[in-house]
Amino acid sequence: MIHYKLRCDGGHDFEGWFKGSVSFEDQARRGLLSCPHCGTVGVERALMAPALRTCPATVPSEPVARAGPPAASAGRMPIPDAARALLQRMRIEVERNCDDVGDRFAEEAIRMHRGEVASRGIYGNASDDDREALADEGVAIASIPWLRLPEG
Ligand SMILES: [Zn+2]
Repeated sequence: MIHYKLRCDGGHDFEGWFKGSVSFEDQARRGLLSCPHCGTVGVERALMAPALRTCPATVPSEPVARAGPPAASAGRMPIPDAARALLQRMRIEVERNCDDVGDRFAEEAIRMHRGEVASRGIYGNASDDDREALADEGVAIASIPWLRLPEG
């Protein structure tokens, strides 16, 4: 099933589920789709949002702080497999494409933010103080739970 945002001639936004793009095109061509608000059959696809995002994580444009794996203490929900796999993929992408600056993370991120050094993808550790300093400087960072990678 594919989820489409649809828009009619009159500018009404609504949503629909279809078996695939062919199914949508087919129904639209035969005039089977109509706006639930005004009834016009002049309906177009506004933006495609697949029900399941399967694309690999892209490298964040912001410096990435290792957030450490969430504590697996009692009472917390375990991370669903899909989320775990996504986070592990993000870690792999970040490690492949960004420089590990370790504990100099905040310092480097701020220097990049100020334009003192060329911008590049970096990741590293950020303490609470670091995060505060970054926030004071207005530096946006991404925090990614740093999950252990599967063996092999
Ligand atoms: Zn309408």
